[in-house]
Amino acid sequence: MSMPRPTLVVGAGQAGLELVTALRDLGDTEPIVLVGEEPVPPYDRPPLSKGYLAGTQRLSDIVFHPEPWFAEQDIELVLGDPVARIERDGDRGSATTASGRVIEFGRLALATGSANRRLALPGADLDAVLDLRSVADADRLGAVLDGLATGGRLVVIGGGFIGLEVAADARAKGVDVTVVEAAERLLGRVVSPQLSEFYLAAHRRRGTEVLLRSTATRIVADGVGVGAVELADGRVVEASAVLVAVGAVARTELAEQLGLQVDGGIVVDEHALASDGMTVAVGDCTSVPNPYTRGTPGRLRLESTQHASDHARTAASTLVGSGAAYTSVPWFWSDQGELQLQISGLYADVDRTVVRGDPETERFTLLHYRDGLLVAAECVGTRQDHIAVKRGLEKGMTIDPDAAADPGVPLKRLLTPAP
Ligand SMILES: Cc1cc2nc3c(=O)[nH]c(=O)nc-3n(C[C@H](O)[C@H](O)[C@H](O)COP(=O)(O)OP(=O)(O)OC[C@H]3O[C@@H](n4cnc5c(N)ncnc54)[C@H](O)[C@@H]3O)c2cc1C
Repeated sequence: MSMPRPTLVVGAGQAGLELVTALRDLGDTEPIVLVGEEPVPPYDRPPLSKGYLAGTQRLSDIVFHPEPWFAEQDIELVLGDPVARIERDGDRGSATTASGRVIEFGRLALATGSANRRLALPGADLDAVLDLRSVADADRLGAVLDGLATGGRLVVIGGGFIGLEVAADARAKGVDVTVVEAAERLLGRVVSPQLSEFYLAAHRRRGTEVLLRSTATRIVADGVGVGAVELADGRVVEASAVLVAVGAVARTELAEQLGLQVDGGIVVDEHALASDGMTVAVGDCTSVPNPYTRGTPGRLRLESTQHASDHARTAASTLVGSGAAYTSVPWFWSDQGELQLQISGLYADVDRTVVRGDPETERFTLLHYRDGLLVAAECVGTRQDHIAVKRGLEKGMTIDPDAAADPGVPLKRLLTPAP
């Protein structure tokens, strides 16, 4: 009798790990091969721009499980050897890794994550121009920041979450920091204008120079490293090192080899099934149906650990044939220095915002409404508000906007079923 072909999971990040864990939790006993490009076992990526970069967490603190755990779960873990080619014919397929190893598989999951967007600028390939996605990147960036602590300026191109988290870490180490952002506000793609304004003021208060509506056009070498960043309007910002943090793109190469539908992410349905109806795809690399924002149709890409985990559990139940639909309420957090932000729901098509607390105190909540119904909350240092809203949105509840502004009344007491 022939051995069953293993389930192949490509990508040993958070989503890949959650998927194999959920398969075992669901009682699935088929052999599994989990293939990762990076040389380390699956780890928690957010600390790379927080505790790991700051030096308060080590690699062993952020790795989810040491390697022997995988063998105990009967999961073969392949590290440092990415899948380079893949093909599938019905319920059988074959993948070839960069080292030439061939893996025959039955079921297939793609959990390939995202890659940093590159800047096509003269000078972007200089040694002191960095980006941040992996442990190796964080080690390099940390060493550069330590070197700059005695004098030097980090220029961060991109005022998104990763750029601002690194800016806060670098300031805490005593590094001079300039953030160069092309848009008219920080975090413009993902948060409300009120929250953008708060973070602009908070970073400036901490001594970070923030340049909005400023587009980098050239990174200039000074002989040994970076010397300056030139902006489109002719200004020149002195720089000892540059971090490029201008967003991420889904890694869809293998999906394209398989002929799967891709629209900037691997297109999946509410069960995490790709367009061939067999392959599941999970986490950052996917484009998912959008049931969240009340009223806004279409699809979206979510880059968060919550999405990676919940989506992977949906995919695992699809693979074992008990597929519940993916309806998790998105939530996200960002630590910028001591400022702790938690977001639940998605900020989109908002027509009313209630401010709860005083942003000047750096502890407040923004509650966002559409057509009178709560759709999202942005909580800075107000964890209880975040928990209340997240649970409320999960249960289809809302909060009367007229009652919500008083920070003396716990939000959990104001939750009522949405009509
Ligand atoms: C610096 C940083 C800070 C972040 N901070 C936060 C935060 O505060 N809060 C939050 O919610 N989210 C945060 N995120 C986002 C979060 O980490 C991601 O959304 C999450 O890791 C996505 O998980 P994933 O498994 O889908 O993708 P990834 O974590 O990107 O894992 C995908 C893995 O697949 C591997 N891979 C790709 N192609 C292949 C191949 N062909 N063969 C084998 N392996 C392959 C990649 O090397 C990678 O290891 C942060 C991300 C970064 C980079």
